[in-house]
Amino acid sequence: MQVTDHIFSIPAEQAFYTGPQSPNVFLVRDGDEAALIDSGFGDEPSVKERLDFLAEHEGVRVKYIVLTHHHFDHSSGAAQLRDATGGAVALHPQEEELLRDWQSKAPQDIEVPEEMKELAEKVETFRKQAAEADPTIKMNDGDEFSVGDLTLRVVHTPGHTLGSVCIYIPQERALFTGDTALGLGTVAISPPPHGDMALYLESLERLKTLDSALMLPGHGQEVHDVPAKLQELIDHRLAREEQIVGLIRKGKRTPKAMLSTIYPELDKRMLPVARRQIEAHLAKLESESRVAQAGDEWTLV
Ligand SMILES: [Zn+2]
Ligand SMILES: [Zn+2]
Repeated sequence: MQVTDHIFSIPAEQAFYTGPQSPNVFLVRDGDEAALIDSGFGDEPSVKERLDFLAEHEGVRVKYIVLTHHHFDHSSGAAQLRDATGGAVALHPQEEELLRDWQSKAPQDIEVPEEMKELAEKVETFRKQAAEADPTIKMNDGDEFSVGDLTLRVVHTPGHTLGSVCIYIPQERALFTGDTALGLGTVAISPPPHGDMALYLESLERLKTLDSALMLPGHGQEVHDVPAKLQELIDHRLAREEQIVGLIRKGKRTPKAMLSTIYPELDKRMLPVARRQIEAHLAKLESESRVAQAGDEWTLV
């Protein structure tokens, strides 16, 4: 699917239960040079669909496969796409260990309880595939890649994960945001060491300073009013933060006690993720000396 003269979205059937939103994979092309932004899932049909799409772009050479972060919905197709195209895989150094250590407990975008055996096995396979991506390019903030006459600029945006990056193409005023900003809804932010709410909000503020006219997220539809979308995401987090402060004031002093008020209708399977969101906010508030922890309980400072 063509988004602009130089940007295409490469669709694939949903390989895995991800709620309504499959991961996006984008092709950036200028002349005979190209880069992929993220790789999607590593199951055979997904990889085949991406490669079939590339085959339609005759004469195009994939120079880079840029991974916005290590999560397996974005990275498990990378090894196969690299083998098929020769593109070099690029990842932020803070993501590399997380990518390689497929047995780590680092939270992923999709978490299934161990008792759901079939899905848990699928996750294991995806994580093993992701570990084989073998990124040979360590990309850091400010690094630039050229694809024809286009510049792909790396913007380090820690928060969702600590090594999450966005890619900005000034010639297109296009911003690829991975899971830092989604097309619809909000992304999970874990408390340190896996994520960081304070850094996340700083990252969103930083993205607002770019002159983007098009946002291409890791999940969901592209966004055209980018500053408004980023502000909406910031406002949502700040409102949640104030809600948490209010709950502590009312005597709901543990994340568990806050859960049912903040997420009254949540699917049971989502509770651990929801709880980590609250803990991420509390960690930010603690770093600002607005709350303090004593045992399980949180109090206002
Ligand atoms: Zn994701
Ligand atoms: Zn993610």
